[in-house]
Amino acid sequence: KTGARKSAGTAVKAGRKPEAAPVPATELEVRNPATGALAGTVPIDSAETVADKVRELRAHQPAWEALGPEGRKQWLLKLQDWLVDNTDHLADVLQSETGKARVDALIDPAFSVDLTGYYARRAAKFLADEHPSPHSPLARVKELTTVFRPYQVVGVITPWNFPLAMPVIDVIPALAAGAAVILKPSEVTPLSAVELARGWREIGAPPVFEVVTGAGETGAAVVGNVDYIQFTGSTATGRKIAAACTERMIPFSLELGGKDPAIVLADADLDRAAHGIAFGGLFNAGQVCISVERVYVEAPVYDEFLRKLTAAVKEVRQGVDGRRPQYDMGALANENQAQIVQRHVEEAVEAGARVMTGGKRTGVGTLFEPTVLADVDHTMTCMTEETFGPTLPVMKVADEAEAIRLANDSIYGLSASVWSGDKDRAERVARQLNAGAVNINDVFANMFSFALPMGGWGLSGTGARWGGPNGVRKYCRQQAITKPIL
Ligand code: ADP
Repeated sequence: KTGARKSAGTAVKAGRKPEAAPVPATELEVRNPATGALAGTVPIDSAETVADKVRELRAHQPAWEALGPEGRKQWLLKLQDWLVDNTDHLADVLQSETGKARVDALIDPAFSVDLTGYYARRAAKFLADEHPSPHSPLARVKELTTVFRPYQVVGVITPWNFPLAMPVIDVIPALAAGAAVILKPSEVTPLSAVELARGWREIGAPPVFEVVTGAGETGAAVVGNVDYIQFTGSTATGRKIAAACTERMIPFSLELGGKDPAIVLADADLDRAAHGIAFGGLFNAGQVCISVERVYVEAPVYDEFLRKLTAAVKEVRQGVDGRRPQYDMGALANENQAQIVQRHVEEAVEAGARVMTGGKRTGVGTLFEPTVLADVDHTMTCMTEETFGPTLPVMKVADEAEAIRLANDSIYGLSASVWSGDKDRAERVARQLNAGAVNINDVFANMFSFALPMGGWGLSGTGARWGGPNGVRKYCRQQAITKPIL
């Protein structure tokens, strides 16, 4: 939980009695939601500060673009080394601001190292000029070239669930494309992003990456000054940002909420499905945009699957972790999140759901017990609204057709999983789901396959996708050049 703090210094400088007028907060306190311990403070950057930083970035961007992909690669690989060398420190900072289990906190640096290497090494290929073949006699006497030229300043606005990996997944491809980047991390977890910017300075890289901190107003100032916005967060905030970008006529891409279904068919390996779905629902305490949020199970195996899933979830060790991994799951990132999870569970139980295990807060910080709910249906919020917590609501379905219909009965369409002993049958189901990604007999596999496009359908997102060539090209304007051949 964060809280705005009034700076005593400002009150004195303002020279007013405290009751005369409220002094605007100038700093944010960042606290560990598991223990309440102060993790750090960051400034609340004003619209003016944001505008100044964007102006500086704009001045430095042409030299960065002129380095070319090969020149930029050297800096990105240096940053990759820095990430490797600082993994333990970064995990410490992450844990201090999120209350994550150590095993979860280590994912961010590992993912960041991997993704940085992917784009550092492939950007040159992804950004290479293209020469489309001419279609008409006129075009045949010209050489045709498509050139990928970066936007000058890209604004990246990120949420709190992966305070290092979420920034990295956007900042690195944008830098690789030749853009300068201004990052506004979540006010709940800004410290890891501040460390990333420190790393960029420490390796001596050109000044084309800056972090600004603060809440929505600072984010709005970023939107007001940059040339492209990449936003990851809630659908409600995404809608506001889309409107602001449209007003300025700047392009944007949004990665928003999800309500990912898992479909367990009667011919599935139920042990694998139970363990995979438990992991898919509980990893990072369920605070993953592509968490398993609802489970549909064919009637003949419903009871057996529920038994296995409940047993798997009961094995999960939860607690406030230290530097040595002791637990599988830690805290929720803030109090508001803990209350949403509690409300979804309580409303389901009131409407007739059965709690198989868990179902309540532990009494420590924001920790919520890993939970399995049985006998749920689509009248319940736990099956329609994004929960973003360690809950697995399970619903019985008559057959494959009903599972597909219910899986598609959502405003979201981020990802999904299908569990079956017949991989071809599972793929036929996958091709009927309204989701940007489907993993067969697995969870999260698409997220770790950087070559694939990643992004949501429906209210889960819009605009260019993460991953593959598009991951860097989205930060570029395409330029067409025609040149006489003779
Ligand atoms: P969550 O992190 O819970 O998904 P949000 O979607 O509200 O919550 O926040 C995601 C990011 O968007 C955060 O960095 C937040 O500060 C920022 N933000 C919130 N409101 C605005 C806004 N109006 N303009 C720009 N950024 C915003």
